[in-house]
Amino acid sequence: MLEKLFVPRPSRYFGRSTLLRILNRTKDSDRTSTWSAMDKAKWVGGFAEWTEGDTAFLSIAFTWLLDIAAARAIWYRALGYRVRAGGPALFLVQMKHELADLAELGGDVPDAIAHHNPQATIASRGCPVGCHFCIVPAMEGREFTLLPDFPVRPILCDNNLSALPAEYQQHIIDRYLAEGVPLLDANSGFEPATFTPDVYARWAPLLNAGRGPWRFAFDETKESADVRRVMKMLANEPPKRKRVYVLIGNEPFDDCMQRIQSVIDHGCEPHVQPLMKLNALQREPWVRYDWTAQKLRDVARWANGWVWKRAPFAEYDRSLHNARIPALHEQPSLFA
Ligand code: SF4
Repeated sequence: MLEKLFVPRPSRYFGRSTLLRILNRTKDSDRTSTWSAMDKAKWVGGFAEWTEGDTAFLSIAFTWLLDIAAARAIWYRALGYRVRAGGPALFLVQMKHELADLAELGGDVPDAIAHHNPQATIASRGCPVGCHFCIVPAMEGREFTLLPDFPVRPILCDNNLSALPAEYQQHIIDRYLAEGVPLLDANSGFEPATFTPDVYARWAPLLNAGRGPWRFAFDETKESADVRRVMKMLANEPPKRKRVYVLIGNEPFDDCMQRIQSVIDHGCEPHVQPLMKLNALQREPWVRYDWTAQKLRDVARWANGWVWKRAPFAEYDRSLHNARIPALHEQPSLFA
């Protein structure tokens, strides 16, 4: 999705041994440097800025960062730069006014995602699912746009890998194998409805070799049957490598807690994300149903701080945990 920040083959399976042979062909020193770079690679937090010649680029993922972007636009203009701004935060029409007088908005900028994290890449845009709480279908479309020549990097940010055509999933895998780049994280992951045994078999050699997590989402109770099937399918994977995004605040408290508990009971680890308004100007959760803002924060901290391993939520003591609440999908491409 970050390619729009300015907005930024034949199928065959490789066995694990084949994959390891290919990865081992990479010189040890090269692999060491790749892993070190990965260790150092951080997401910039949703707002990236850079200059090329006399142009300054501002790439804004979250609407609550628009004020910062506007301040930076003023600064660049004072230095004589032409300023261009884009990203999901500017997609919503009503948000465009924030920077309209300070920067040129929109347009395509190749590989903008690398400015958010130099180890990140994306091989497709769009998503056919159409979740109402997600900006991807509106911004990128409900038909996939494939980017077959994507730069191969260890963090793959496609919105919904499992819904991509099987041949294209294999193309992505083949690119990693051909370039000897480990896949360390497919950070938006797989959507339960399309995360089938075929998809699991296709990605397992590459993802398991990189030791990255299996990520999928349990965002709504209506997905229960598919999510349970996926959790059973992954039963032999270690719990710490099964990270399940769980949206909270989009359903009543009991329903959300049941989804979290189901993830835990099936030997997976929940990564809880409070519902945010897509046009939120403050980084505050959207309070609906029987939730309060405090309860949304508490559940997120209880779940994401692994407190659930020691105590049920009813016994959670917030004074012991002051972790920050994550934004939806944490990084800018964060909606599968
Ligand atoms: S939340 Fe995920 S599955 Fe749903 S529309 Fe967004 S990208 Fe697609």
